[in-house]
Amino acid sequence: MKIDILTLFPEMFPGVLGHSILHKAAEKSAVSYHVVNFREFADNKHRAVDDYPYGGGAGMVLMPQPIIDAVASLKERAESKHPRVILLCPQGSRYDQRKAEELAKEDHLIFICGHYEGYDERIRQHVVTDEISIGDYVLTGGELGAMVIIDSVVRLLPEVLGNQESHRKDSFSTGLLEHPHYTRPADFRGMKVPDVLLSGNHKLIEEWRNKESLRRTLERRPDLLEKIELSSEQEKWLQEVEKEDN
Ligand code: SAM
Repeated sequence: MKIDILTLFPEMFPGVLGHSILHKAAEKSAVSYHVVNFREFADNKHRAVDDYPYGGGAGMVLMPQPIIDAVASLKERAESKHPRVILLCPQGSRYDQRKAEELAKEDHLIFICGHYEGYDERIRQHVVTDEISIGDYVLTGGELGAMVIIDSVVRLLPEVLGNQESHRKDSFSTGLLEHPHYTRPADFRGMKVPDVLLSGNHKLIEEWRNKESLRRTLERRPDLLEKIELSSEQEKWLQEVEKEDN
């Protein structure tokens, strides 16, 4: 996957892209990152990228020319003819695991990070394929949003996580929240690991994990249960959980 990031603050990215799994993914050539300051594409004398809003009002607006030309230049150089062009925007559709899975199937993503009051509307209309918000709050810029999306997409690419199973069982991938985890010691200051996890009985452990995943989802995110179709076995476990918790 190729990831281009258009930003006015490229210095924000090396820390995130240069460490841990995102860095290892690039080392394994699963992904390549290209951070571009779109100010370089401004065709005016002072390389201005923003201007006052027509009609007056507070804040500056990002002009169409630098961003639209930057996207055109990235597309020209790209092998993929139809990259996804993602505009970070609090008015976009709310980001979730399903969208991460969808984007992980692409071979080229271009992120546009906004600042100030926002973008000239013509940017949306002419070059953007997806407008994404990372949540119902307003950030100062799109960089943190782009980092969140890149992190959640790159970890889904084949070969990036050591154990391919690990992300398939993550919260949201299954439609549910994941079960609790424990590690050594089995008894930490009187707080004990559930016996079943020490039993070595894989069938019982799997059943415990499935039930606890349902319990956690019921307690914390009952809305998720309304969105998925449970198997008959899961229905049975859910009924047991409901009885136990009442
Ligand atoms: N005036 C805009 C509005 O009310 O919709 C908010 C502009 S915000 C201060 C500046 C930039 O931060 C946005 O253009 C966008 O790139 C980014 N941003 C802010 N909140 C975001 C969110 N929830 N998700 C993604 N990007 C966000």
